[in-house]
Amino acid sequence: MIDFDEIGPEKILEVYHPKSGMRGFVVIDSLALGPGKGGIRMTPSVSIEEVSRLARAMTWKCSLAGLPFGGAKSGIIADDKTISKKEKKELIEEFSKALRIVCPSQYIAAPDMNIAEQEMEWFAKANGNKKSCTGKPKKMGGLPHELGSTGFGIYHAALVALKYKKMNVKDITVAIEGFGNVGWFAAKYLSEHGAKLVAVSDSSGVVYNKKGLNFKELAKVKKLKGKLAEYKDGAIIPSRDIIGLDVDVLITAAIPDLILSSDVDNIKAKIIVEGSNIPMTHETEELLAEKGVLIIPDFVANAGGVISSYAEYKGFSEKKMFKIVEEKITKNTSLVLKNNKGCVRCSALKIARERVRKVCKVCKL
Ligand code: GLU
Repeated sequence: MIDFDEIGPEKILEVYHPKSGMRGFVVIDSLALGPGKGGIRMTPSVSIEEVSRLARAMTWKCSLAGLPFGGAKSGIIADDKTISKKEKKELIEEFSKALRIVCPSQYIAAPDMNIAEQEMEWFAKANGNKKSCTGKPKKMGGLPHELGSTGFGIYHAALVALKYKKMNVKDITVAIEGFGNVGWFAAKYLSEHGAKLVAVSDSSGVVYNKKGLNFKELAKVKKLKGKLAEYKDGAIIPSRDIIGLDVDVLITAAIPDLILSSDVDNIKAKIIVEGSNIPMTHETEELLAEKGVLIIPDFVANAGGVISSYAEYKGFSEKKMFKIVEEKITKNTSLVLKNNKGCVRCSALKIARERVRKVCKVCKL
């Protein structure tokens, strides 16, 4: 069931192309601040419900980051691991063609789960308009999300959270769920600045070593062998066990709904930075906050990707993109923490809602 409320979603478009079997949808949550912005995710289980929750997260994310975009998201139902490159290209192209009626005036696509710069190139070409998506390859004038903007932003959000908790990056232990584009760069920046990375996970399991893991070695193993479980200097434990490890900072960087309310008693981290979108429900966040865990919500912490998209949209350089990611994430995370009265998400939402309320013509806010 989709929840319609005082904001949106304003538009939901469901598309099907029988010949290729492409089934996809776009949820345009809000157009108040500009064209709906948000990535395309390709998973076998993606649903309109999931995409509409993610589209709402984009509305708040763009608003809080002060970007001239509304919130949207899309999904294509397919198993990225079993289809061929040719099949994937066809799905993206058919999806893109079907979306010509909304791109880019009401929807600007971007990468998300299992979608990267190559797919954005296919999307833009099939759409016939370069402005239809961001996260394109450099050769097309794009700033691919593979440059690591989201992970870089997560690192800066973590620094602000640490400062708030009067902790130093050089004295902390970190666990990172996911070693894709987000987790990889969060691990890189944190370990380069002195944090002890003790656990990282991918679908092959969690590599865990209390004494610390070597980022460069992890990166090498992942690149060459495709799975972290091949890393030699650590124990391999089941993927979900990363949640309960005894660490200072836990970073979620992969799947939605990772942490359940039944996990709350098991969590030992003092800070959770939500690198992934919707890694838990708001109720679970509240239970963790009651326990004293500081949570930096998804739409605050992981805005680096969409800030990079904005930089691409404006034609900024890579250097300028990293500069504004750092500035915006640091400023907004600090602001949200400064104004919080025990609920960080509430504080962030208040700011984001107010910006939408001021300009929204269709809202009942
Ligand atoms: N997929 C990214 C996110 O969830 C980027 C979205 C975009 O750049 O539009 O924030």
